[in-house]
Amino acid sequence: MAKKQFKAESKQLLDLMINSIYTHREIFLREIISNASDAIDKLHYKSITESDIPVSREDFRIDVKVDNEAGTVTVSDNGIGMTREDMDANLGVIAHSGSLDFKKNIEEGKDVDIIGQFGVGFYSSFLVSDKVTVRSKAYGQDQAWEWVSSGADGYTVKECEKDSYGTDVIMHIREDDENESYSTYLDTYTLEDLIKKYSDYVRWPIHMMLEKGAMEETGETNEDGTPKKEWKTHGEDTVVNSMVPIWQRDKASVTDDDCKNFYKEKFHDYEEPVSVIRVNAEGTVSYKAMLFVPKVAPYNFYSRDFEPGLQLYSSGVMIMDKCKDLLPDCFRFVRGIVDSPDLSLNISREMLQHDRQLSMIRSNLEKKIKNELERLLTEDRETYNEFHKNFGPQIKYGIVEDWGAKSDLLKDLIMFHSMKLDKPITLKEYVDSMPEGQEKIYYASAESIARAKQLPQTEQVMDKGYDIICLTEEVDEFTLRTLRNYNEKEFCDINGKDLGLETEDEKKESDAKEEEAKDILAFVKESLGDRVDSVKLSRKLKTHAVCLSSEGDVSFEMEKYFANIPGGNEMERVKAKRVLEINASHPAFESLKKAYEADKDKAKAMSEIMLCQALLMAGMPVDDMLGYSENIFKLF
Ligand code: ADP
Ligand code: MG
Repeated sequence: MAKKQFKAESKQLLDLMINSIYTHREIFLREIISNASDAIDKLHYKSITESDIPVSREDFRIDVKVDNEAGTVTVSDNGIGMTREDMDANLGVIAHSGSLDFKKNIEEGKDVDIIGQFGVGFYSSFLVSDKVTVRSKAYGQDQAWEWVSSGADGYTVKECEKDSYGTDVIMHIREDDENESYSTYLDTYTLEDLIKKYSDYVRWPIHMMLEKGAMEETGETNEDGTPKKEWKTHGEDTVVNSMVPIWQRDKASVTDDDCKNFYKEKFHDYEEPVSVIRVNAEGTVSYKAMLFVPKVAPYNFYSRDFEPGLQLYSSGVMIMDKCKDLLPDCFRFVRGIVDSPDLSLNISREMLQHDRQLSMIRSNLEKKIKNELERLLTEDRETYNEFHKNFGPQIKYGIVEDWGAKSDLLKDLIMFHSMKLDKPITLKEYVDSMPEGQEKIYYASAESIARAKQLPQTEQVMDKGYDIICLTEEVDEFTLRTLRNYNEKEFCDINGKDLGLETEDEKKESDAKEEEAKDILAFVKESLGDRVDSVKLSRKLKTHAVCLSSEGDVSFEMEKYFANIPGGNEMERVKAKRVLEINASHPAFESLKKAYEADKDKAKAMSEIMLCQALLMAGMPVDDMLGYSENIFKLF
């Protein structure tokens, strides 16, 4: 019998399948099972739309069998089946452009690993087989046909015997070689795992013969007269897949606890999620989604290892384990599942064509997640606080990213520690409780809340009855800089130059004092050299003698941040402009004045000490500790 040749494209694809190193070989089973399921769908549809089709829904099934002697895995279905012409038309060519995309990607050297998650259809059987036999009888036909191919050199079709309609796909598993252990696909448990992993929610039952064991009576008796028992195993016809996924069931029939338990099991989290979000969308794009907001961050959440994404299903078949495109980065902590019948298995093609669909789902989910978090914030603050402790920084990164593109979405979800109330508050809560006359949102950056509270600059702001938010995370200050303001209220760094607290009159008075102290301030600046950029009389200190503030765009916290970046030393150092502020009403200033008149050496030592004190209070290092302590002893 003459061999028929595959269409040119298909031949190349088969070559690639057989010869390329391909890391996702295991998807072959999912592909063959999904074809079986499609074939049953077709017959089922026929049976309900046409009369005289005496098949009943309960009889439909898919069987996966292993024959170790023959070295084959067989997937059988009692679906619509194929005629000889069907075989020629469907198995002899690349049936869909998904496979074509696959081929293009390999040729262009794209990451096969990622492509490996997509469907490649019937040909994927050749990833693990050196020969594939398809025996099929179309529903309503008398003759069955056998299609055989050993790969790229073509295929044959001949008549064969088959009792009933449906299809058997018999895969002759390859011999192991140095790169691959194909024999694992002849192992029942491996196959069972693969079915659970990829085909758990296929809506027809997938049967396997599984070894079950039990203690059974042997017929003999023990010495004490009791019946003798032995461990015996026997094959048992078992349905391996669970068929109806929890997210497909209607909301009323699934309790919150069901969802939470499902989450814990599916995503291996020992903590319950703080929220379950269920979506059932119908319209331009239909999909069902079940999303979870975890309570605690996985240990690797803030590292590169963490892989975000939602599981993507199409009618019960898993297409992708972690689909990043479904989730905006700011919500990358969300876990869950999206199931859309509108996406075909061959999403590599669909991705390009229907990218619009994915992005519609994404923006839809984005809104749902935001609404849910907002609900939590208002209705269950304690839980939200806990959530925010874990994932607040991620949301703040979301604001900083893309120059604030997501600011409006996220700005009401972030919180900062309030110095006045000693608990985390939102920016809205801050602004809503601002007393009359307060124009700005004050913030203090420091390593910790305790450190922030000790900053000398806080006194005057707090005295006015204004709250200060503490920025303790690296991302905090960048977040505020990206936002620029909140509802038109600007952010103001209490370490910065001008806090805008003075009235016009007070300002005039301060200017006059500054003028008066001109010489002594110049002296201090000269004594300190370029360790400070300027020396001024302070307009914000009350009980403290000195403080350090920064002028210009770079703050002290940013300076520290850039200093910590690896390679930061080689970069042009980003430095804050340092201003030493001295409190003119403090006795220390009086002493300095006296020394300045009488003993310049002493005044110099005092200047040094003032700078060191200011540095220490700002949480900055003092480089010359020895000099510092010598200066102190000069005053004895
Ligand atoms: P797709 O499933 O995307 O159409 P495949 O390469 O997986 O592409 O399958 C090619 C075609 O072969 C199917 O469309 C179908 O017509 C036919 N086919 C494959 N397996 C079966 C089966 N078990 N029963 C009936 N037809 C099948
Ligand atoms: Mg298919």
